[in-house]
Amino acid sequence: MLNFKNKKLIYSIIALVILLILFLFLYIKNQAKSINYDMYNTLLSSNSIKSATIEDDEIILKTKNGIKYKIVKDGVSIKELIKKVPLRVEHDSTFATDLITGIILFLMVFVFILYIRKKDMQERDKLEQKRTRQQAFEIDNFMKTPIKPVVSNITFKDVAGINEVKEELSEIVDFLKNPTKYKNFGIKLPKGVLLVGPPGVGKTMIAKAVAGEANVPFFYQSGSSFVQIYVGIGAKRVRELFAYAKRYAPSIIFIDEIDAVGKARGGFRNDERESTLNQLLSEMDGFEDSSGVIVIAATNKIEVLDEALLRSGRFDRRVFVSLPNKLEREEIINIYLKDKKHKINTKKIAEITVGFSGAALSTLVNEAAINALKSGRGYIQDSDFYAVRDKVLLGKKKILSFSKEEKEIQALYQSAKALCAYWFDLSFDKVSIVSDGIKDIDKEIESRSSMLSKIKVYLAGMVATELFYQDRFSNALNDLQKAKDLANIMVEKYGMGNSIYPNQLDSANLLESAKEDVKKFLESYKDALKTIQSKMLRDEIVTKEELKSIINEIF
Ligand code: ADP
Repeated sequence: MLNFKNKKLIYSIIALVILLILFLFLYIKNQAKSINYDMYNTLLSSNSIKSATIEDDEIILKTKNGIKYKIVKDGVSIKELIKKVPLRVEHDSTFATDLITGIILFLMVFVFILYIRKKDMQERDKLEQKRTRQQAFEIDNFMKTPIKPVVSNITFKDVAGINEVKEELSEIVDFLKNPTKYKNFGIKLPKGVLLVGPPGVGKTMIAKAVAGEANVPFFYQSGSSFVQIYVGIGAKRVRELFAYAKRYAPSIIFIDEIDAVGKARGGFRNDERESTLNQLLSEMDGFEDSSGVIVIAATNKIEVLDEALLRSGRFDRRVFVSLPNKLEREEIINIYLKDKKHKINTKKIAEITVGFSGAALSTLVNEAAINALKSGRGYIQDSDFYAVRDKVLLGKKKILSFSKEEKEIQALYQSAKALCAYWFDLSFDKVSIVSDGIKDIDKEIESRSSMLSKIKVYLAGMVATELFYQDRFSNALNDLQKAKDLANIMVEKYGMGNSIYPNQLDSANLLESAKEDVKKFLESYKDALKTIQSKMLRDEIVTKEELKSIINEIF
């Protein structure tokens, strides 16, 4: 759409062009054609001349059909002329008429521009009014959605396959159940817990289960709802949310998609988001550890979060929730089949659903049930699952589903990462076929060699596929990006390249030499890698302990 400034410019240009055309038209129209004496005589004798005007040293003749001619005054007998036609004498009259016409035209154009501007302003006012009404309506709606605690009837047993997460959170549940016990003992508990994991793995469900287990009220707020609102409103809402939660304490505030509010500040500024984030930070700093309010937030992009949110005293407890492994998928499938008639080999279904989240599995079971109902069979069987699997897969983007070959490649890729993570001493408990589970522990001071080790692990999968398949694959995308980012930071920020002053080639050299190291390492551990790959293919997971015993066996 044209904005106001552009419109004004375009109208002015149109007006100028009109003015020019009019001038040109008048000029051409008023232009008299020079004639010679013979022609003049013919006109005079045929009585064709209607009027004559003396202008300086020329006579302008106007014929009865409106045509204008001019002739030099000296060659004409004025006496004869006035006998036949009335004669006027004018000095510089054309200039005067032109000037007047010009002024009139100019005024006309000016009035035209004024008229257009007025119309435009009216239009703008209308739009502005509409926008204000819409804004008021949205704010009203947002504020009208009451901040209401929900009583959660979900408990940990409804959430399948997250045993470690349950363990990590059991302390929080206990604290919410008996805050005074902790208070009397002077124990400080985290104010915030950050649940990190891909969509659909049950983060919301887990937060609700914590509330359900502890039997405390649950306040839900989606991070993205804050930022669509106008300046000041998000911050106000945060204030109210905390005020309510404190009133109902012990209680849980759950902020879904916190990255919408908590993206790192700077860069593209968004005042509303920043004011909401600042309010959230100050609320979290403001309440005492014993207030009995725990803030649980969920995100699938921890790397974009503002550092301030992750600082101690805020979301300093982080719980990673990954896609379910084979056993967990079986558990989830069983939960959803519980109240349905079926003859399902759940182990088999778990095997064909690598990469499915809990949410996708719940949809899958539902679709299979619909399929069974349509067939009129009365119970669900394996074939129903096969029939709807692609539908669920295609409907839900980004769900991994590996063919047999892909599964082998991915297992090798992850096994190489696991082996390197173990060898280069990175912190992790287990590596699965879909996630590496490597913990990115914040350190105040980190060495060049420790950063290099991380780069080596990021590159390990790619190097392994080169060794075994003489090829590279697209599943290296994320790790490759991480390796490049880290190498760039090392060179540019920490002076860890060849020279202290950053040099473009330094990051590339750093990556290449790390890759060479990994290659040498993996070449000498090809057998171990194969053993880990088969274990990964069978169980989809390998723990640090298992890695240790595989490596020890080789020596
Ligand atoms: P997230 O918050 O991680 O995006 P949700 O908690 O909203 O995921 O999960 C969406 C739905 O998926 C849940 O309502 C539940 O039906 C199902 N679901 C996800 N994970 C699990 C699980 N571990 N056990 C049982 N159901 C699950």
